[in-house]
Amino acid sequence: MVNDLMVAQNFTICGAGPAGTLAALYLARQGYQVTLYERHPDLRTAPVPRGRSINLALSTRGLRALAAVGLDPVIRPLAIPMRGRMIHSPQGELTFQPYGRTPDETIFSISRHRLNHALLDATTGWPNLDIHFSSRCVGLDLASMTLDIEDPLTRTVRPVRAQTVVGADGAFSAVRQALQRTDRYDYAQTFLPHGYKELTIPALPDGSHALPKNYLHIWPRQDFMLIALPNLDGSFTCTLFLAYEGAESFAQLTDDDAIRRFFDRHFPDVTPLMPTLLEDFKHNPTGSMVTIRCFPWQYAGRVVLIGDAAHAVVPFYGQGMNASFEDCFILDECLRRHNGDTRMAFRDYQQRRKVNTDALAELAYDNYLEMRAKVASPWFLFRRRLEYLMSAVLGDRFLPLYTMVSFTHIPYAEARARARRQEQWLDAGLLLGGLLGCFFLLWLLWQWVR
Ligand SMILES: Cc1cc2nc3c(=O)[nH]c(=O)nc-3n(C[C@H](O)[C@H](O)[C@H](O)COP(=O)(O)OP(=O)(O)OC[C@H]3O[C@@H](n4cnc5c(N)ncnc54)[C@H](O)[C@@H]3O)c2cc1C
Repeated sequence: MVNDLMVAQNFTICGAGPAGTLAALYLARQGYQVTLYERHPDLRTAPVPRGRSINLALSTRGLRALAAVGLDPVIRPLAIPMRGRMIHSPQGELTFQPYGRTPDETIFSISRHRLNHALLDATTGWPNLDIHFSSRCVGLDLASMTLDIEDPLTRTVRPVRAQTVVGADGAFSAVRQALQRTDRYDYAQTFLPHGYKELTIPALPDGSHALPKNYLHIWPRQDFMLIALPNLDGSFTCTLFLAYEGAESFAQLTDDDAIRRFFDRHFPDVTPLMPTLLEDFKHNPTGSMVTIRCFPWQYAGRVVLIGDAAHAVVPFYGQGMNASFEDCFILDECLRRHNGDTRMAFRDYQQRRKVNTDALAELAYDNYLEMRAKVASPWFLFRRRLEYLMSAVLGDRFLPLYTMVSFTHIPYAEARARARRQEQWLDAGLLLGGLLGCFFLLWLLWQWVR
């Protein structure tokens, strides 16, 4: 029989990625009994599986959520500040676009592995927190609240009873699949026509970075782009975002010559810095990018989704993990506000988060277009400068969208709505300025003709 009490004592979390591990820390701090199941072996002792991004951009939302469990001083030394975008033109010219209005508004490059490692380390010493590695959730029976946990090596499955389940098992969540089988469940997944591949710029022989270190480097080429984020060991991890099919696509880059020609033609300034380019290109997997929307995020106060399991977004705003950390922060607030009543807390949580992660999905998609094409356009640069100027004059009454998303806790939907209003004012101001300029020119012409 399922326990009808809605005030949970035990939480079973599926997935010890960034969201699941941070959620475990929040819940353990509140005194709950927490059990975490992760399908992979412990990454602190096992080789890291390849396929997901090597480094990530961490910003204010993520940092606040980490700071709340005392992890700020642990994480900051692992991160490299990135002050802005460094744009590389096809001719190799560099243009700097600051991210923030002030030098302290920076985002941080951090290794996914080191971050997960630090989060897992932080879980040790909690008597009420157990982690089971190599334990894959392959099913959840909602009626009996029984999880099927498989040992990936022996393929044996054992049933585990749970009082409350947190699905933190990523974009293709097994926990969410159980919810998807309930009546009137909304679910949509949309893949981008682009995939991504990770490449490396190694450190120079003296251990220093081969490109200016404190920037996110971008090579925008309209239909595709390359980016590079710095690592602590002096290397950069590059990511090529390219269509799967078409004239310029992964489908065309099938042999060494084609790969070399593509890179020499489009990224001539960086190719000489990549001695393992061909090897990396051929051996590293091509990753796909998906947006996942689903609703509800909770089931009867017994199951709740967090992180990519609830809202995978494309990576172009560098916010997927930040938003996942923010989920943990808000879920913690909701549980406290409702004194552990999970039925109330989970509803409150999904109401506060769903509208915002939907907005983030749109912002991330818009940035997909902005990063590969618009950042190189003079009109875009002019508008951005104007926005920063307006913000300098009007202060917090006019905040650039990037600032609101990356350096504040303004909910994503509110940030997007505010940015739209600001755009309209700016458009109206530009139109008025243009008209006044035209009248002035006409007046000058009139004076001259007279
Ligand atoms: C190329 C790329 C670049 C990105 N860059 C950024 C960035 O710069 N900044 C940013 O904020 N975000 C970025 N993201 C997004 C970020 O990676 C995700 O939003 C974040 O990892 C989500 O964390 P999560 O814990 O919800 O899911 P995941 O990281 O997917 O973790 C899920 C965990 O669950 C485990 N698991 C899965 N299935 C099961 C199962 N059935 N049973 C048990 N365990 C299971 C997995 O092994 C994993 O450990 C990027 C994503 C990509 C693809």
